[in-house]
Parts: sequence; structure tokens; C-alpha cells
Amino acid sequence: MTNAQAAVPEIKLDGVEMKYRTEASEVLALHQVSLEIAKGEFVSLLGPSGCGKTTLLRLMADLLQPTGGDIQVAGKSPKEARLAQKYGIVFQSPVLYDWRKVKHNITLPLELMGVNKADRERKALELLELVGLEGFADKYPWQLSGGMQQRVAIARALSMQPEILLMDEPFSALDEFTRERLNEELLSIWAEVLNTVVFVTHSIPESIFLSDRVFVLSPHPGRLSAVVDIPLPRPRTPDMRNSPLFFELVARIRGSFEGG
Ligand code: ADP
Ligand code: MG
Repeated sequence: MTNAQAAVPEIKLDGVEMKYRTEASEVLALHQVSLEIAKGEFVSLLGPSGCGKTTLLRLMADLLQPTGGDIQVAGKSPKEARLAQKYGIVFQSPVLYDWRKVKHNITLPLELMGVNKADRERKALELLELVGLEGFADKYPWQLSGGMQQRVAIARALSMQPEILLMDEPFSALDEFTRERLNEELLSIWAEVLNTVVFVTHSIPESIFLSDRVFVLSPHPGRLSAVVDIPLPRPRTPDMRNSPLFFELVARIRGSFEGG
């Protein structure tokens, strides 16, 4: 950690505020959010619905501009980072094109960037292997389960080799068993590609299992109420979910909500 802390943070927010203005009203979605995320870190943004998680992620991705404060990505603006293809984004629903084969969904960003067909096909097969979907290249999205579709979306997000992977509740529509398995798979993918991950969730156990640190957000207005270090060793294994340390962390995070 000492090296990571000494270096320029991969993502840095300083007093960020986000006010949504509509004709009828004004919503203060985020108030004075300051945080730093180191390169290669896996962090979660955790909080109840409406506390501003998606807003925070969209601000980092340059899909929204803050109404106050400052955001830097490796010392530059989010816009520069976006233009430099630094981001891969995975949304809650996989947003796949049903008329395109799985491999052609994955290579869509490469196609838009003008990468040639042979290279695209090679990359698609490599990514399908990475997400455990070998043999599904020529299927269509509607032929896959929800969990498999989300893995296709992850493969697509990784196709441009993003330095930062932003994930907005990617597994929350899935059943608990599938979600736990995908949590484990996501960690093994991360161990291979080793980029920075910002993962939005409202599940306390999911945030603990995945993360190096958990940023706890409280609503009305959304603000950072706690930052919790997760000292579980890596690689994380399913049995850790039953360890005393895991339960202690669940209790600590729950306490930070009540206190926040
Ligand atoms: P979360 O992802 O944690 O559920 P959001 O970031 O989606 O929270 O929303 C935070 C707050 O901002 C909520 O009160 C929500 O209603 C409000 N909000 C989000 N998007 C908009 C928008 N485009 N216009 C007005 N209010 C919004
Ligand atoms: Mg949201």
C-alpha cells in the first residue's frame, strides 16, 4: 500500500457535489464526497437505493459533470480519461444486441474503433475464455441465462483493455447462487487483468467478498459515511464468507449505516 499511496491516485474526488435540477425541483444527490482510489485497487460503493451510487459512478465515467468539487483520473480530467479509452463500464442489465451473435456483441467496441476482423475474432475468443464462455461465440444473447449474459457484458467491457472497470450493480438481478459464483469469477478475471475496479452494490456481503476497501454511502443527501478496509487475504475463497472476520466486517459496516 505504501507505494500505491505515494503515487498519484487513479481516481480522486475532492468535495464533489451533484445537484440535479429539474423545472419543478432540485435534488442534492451527493454532498461533499472526497475519496481516493489507488491504481489496481478493487473498491465497492455500498449503500441503500437512492444514496447516489450510480450518480457517483457516472461522475467518475464522465457521463455526468459535477455541480461542485473536483474529479481527477490519474491526474487528468474524467473527460480526458474517457477519450483515452480508460473506462470499461458494466451496467445492471447487460444491454446486449439480440440480433448480434455473442462474439459480435463483445467486439462491438473494437469494430467501432476500426480494428480488423481477424483481430476482433481472436480477441473475442480470448475474452470468452476469460469469462468462462468458451463455445458460446456463435450463440445469440437470448439463448443464454442472465448470468451468462452479464458475463458477455463484462467481456465486452474488457475488450478495449480498460484501465478502470466501472460496474453498476452488475449482479443484483441474479439469484444468490449465481451471484456468488460470478463474484468468484470476477475476482479471477480481475487477478488476470489487474485493473482498477469500482463496483456498485447494495449487498454488504458482496462488497466485503470482493473489495480491498468499501466506501459506505448514506442517503439524503448522498455522502460518504465510512471507509472500511477489508483485510481478508487474497485469493478470496467461498469459505471466507463463513469466517469470523467476515461476520465482524458485516457487523462493522451495518454499524456504520446506523451511525451514519
Ligand atoms: P443509487 O444508484 O444509489 O440508487 P442514484 O445515483 O440513482 O442512487 O440517485 C441518487 C438521487 O438522485 C436519488 O434521490 C435520485 O432520485 C436522484 N436522481 C438520480 N438521477 C436523477 C436525475 N436524472 N434527475 C433528478 N434526480 C435524479
Ligand atoms: Mg443505482
